[in-house]
Amino acid sequence: MLGSTPVKVSVSTYGSGKGAVLLKVHDNEQTAEEAARRILEEIGGQFIKIENESNRYVSFMLGGRERTFDPNRMYTPEGIRSSLQIFNSYSASAAREVLDFGRFVLRLLPDTGMMIAVHNNTDQAYSVLDYSPDAKLSKEAAGVHLNPAKDPDDFVFTTDSAVFSRYRQAGYNVVLQRNRTTTDDGSLSIYYGRASRWYTNIETQFGHFEEQAAMLRVLLHKP
Ligand SMILES: [Zn+2]
Repeated sequence: MLGSTPVKVSVSTYGSGKGAVLLKVHDNEQTAEEAARRILEEIGGQFIKIENESNRYVSFMLGGRERTFDPNRMYTPEGIRSSLQIFNSYSASAAREVLDFGRFVLRLLPDTGMMIAVHNNTDQAYSVLDYSPDAKLSKEAAGVHLNPAKDPDDFVFTTDSAVFSRYRQAGYNVVLQRNRTTTDDGSLSIYYGRASRWYTNIETQFGHFEEQAAMLRVLLHKP
C-alpha cells in the first residue's frame, strides 16, 4: 500500500526460477518487457515488474491528495525528495511511503547473482552520448565505450568493470558508472553503486526488441 492506494508488484517465474532476475520498474516500457520475457523463456529465471496500468510514473493517494513519483527514483531519501518535488507531491509522510515501497522492491531482488534492470527510451532523449566527454553526464561515468555503428539510444549502464569490458569487447555501447562520486538521483544504479554491488541496466529505444534481446544474451547466454 502506498497511502491508501494498492500498488502491485508481480513476480513471474520461468523454468526452475533459477538464473537471471530481470526487473522492470517503468510499466510503459513494453519493448523491455517483451525482450526480458523472451530471454527468460530461453534460460529461466524471474521477471519482476511494477504493475502500473502501462504508466511510467506511480501515483497514490495520501492525506486526500494525489502524489506522484518516478519508481526509478525511490531508493535514496534525496532521490525520493526531488522526485516527489518534481510532481508537487512532497511531504515527509509521502517520502516515507515511497521509501517503504522502494525497500519492498529491494527485498524482492537477489542478494547475489544476476539482476538486470531493463528500460526503454525515446529517440535522442537519453543515450550513451550523454556520457561522452564534455556531455552533460560525463562526470557520472568512469568509462564509456561508443560504437558508431550502433544506435546511441541502445546501451548498457553498469556498476561493474567486468560487465563493461564484456560489452565493449562485444561491440556494444556501454557506460561504467563512477560509483563513488556519482550524483544521487535515487535510482537503483546509485543505490547499488554506493553499496559496491553489481548492477546492470540494459536500455534501448522503444521498439528495438531484437537489439534489446541480443544485449541481454551477451550476459545471460552461456558461450
Ligand atoms: Zn525506464
